[in-house]
Amino acid sequence: MGSQRARALRRRPAERKPTDLGQRIRAIVARHARLDDHGVPIKCGPSRPERARRATTPDPVVVGAKKMQVSGNDYKVILLDEAHAKACARELEALDGKPRRAYPCPRSKSGHFHTGTR
Ligand SMILES: [Zn+2]
Repeated sequence: MGSQRARALRRRPAERKPTDLGQRIRAIVARHARLDDHGVPIKCGPSRPERARRATTPDPVVVGAKKMQVSGNDYKVILLDEAHAKACARELEALDGKPRRAYPCPRSKSGHFHTGTR
């Protein structure tokens, strides 16, 4: 059946038109992000000691008495502050309807914030 095959081909993900939702999400996040000197959003990543620790110890790692699941924040954009993180979460919810929360990053000593769906 030629038409069945044609429909199957149309359904292939690689042939779907790219949605601009991802771009819109990135634009919202960028407006609330901490920027570097070039105006590029700064992302959260493992420090050298953390990378070294992870090479030998599976995540979550125990730091003091606190268990941290920090790898989930890898390369997430760091937001300006808590107020911006909350505003960002609300704007993203309005965009795609997924519930978001703002939370302090367990990796950060100074307390930087991310937004997430969990
Ligand atoms: Zn972080």
